[in-house]
Amino acid sequence: MKVLFLHGWHSVPGGVKPTHLVRNGLEVINPKLDDDDFEQALRTAQACYQEHHPEVIVGSSRGGALAMNIKAPKAKLVLLCPAWKNWGRANRVKSNTIILHSRLDDVIPYQDSEELARESQATLLEVGHDHRLADEQSLEVLLWACKLPASTDGLSEIDQQVPLNEEACYLCDSCGEEIVIPLDLTQGASQTYVEDCPVCCHANIIHVQVDVRGNLSVTAEPEQD
Ligand SMILES: [Zn+2]
Repeated sequence: MKVLFLHGWHSVPGGVKPTHLVRNGLEVINPKLDDDDFEQALRTAQACYQEHHPEVIVGSSRGGALAMNIKAPKAKLVLLCPAWKNWGRANRVKSNTIILHSRLDDVIPYQDSEELARESQATLLEVGHDHRLADEQSLEVLLWACKLPASTDGLSEIDQQVPLNEEACYLCDSCGEEIVIPLDLTQGASQTYVEDCPVCCHANIIHVQVDVRGNLSVTAEPEQD
């Protein structure tokens, strides 16, 4: 999967976020963008899109505004605390856009992303605890958002209800008890792990699956010897 990563103002290519994507097997195009001239940065980003045809464009802060303002009809956008009120003219995004933002961001208000998500019917996920979104959880959600299938009609219906940290339950195959488990979907939309039933102690293989509509399914099967 090919990702065009547009860095923020006074940031440089090769930061923690694009590096995390590269380490997880994504091909990342990470151009140096002019800090002072937004129009120039826009031309650079547009030229990169034209040359590489990325499936996903990630834009961080001012880079988010760049991502919103280039013509990229086929790419899915993943925006990190996008500074769309500070730069550029675009004030809407495609409904399959995923926006990541922290309520504790003291550079770009979280409310800007709430407004953008609401007006565009895009998906807003609250992650991290600052403007950089370079913490472990934010990086995992960023990776997850990039890898999510770019279906054009499904994502709008997630309606920011993706349960990032919730509970679910499964029926133990051995004793039939309903077991509640905590969910951490920052670990990915598809997870498999082994857990001992807290009631009867039999080992179960737990499968957790979230589809693009945010529907969750949790199933368990006995572990094979
Ligand atoms: Zn059991």
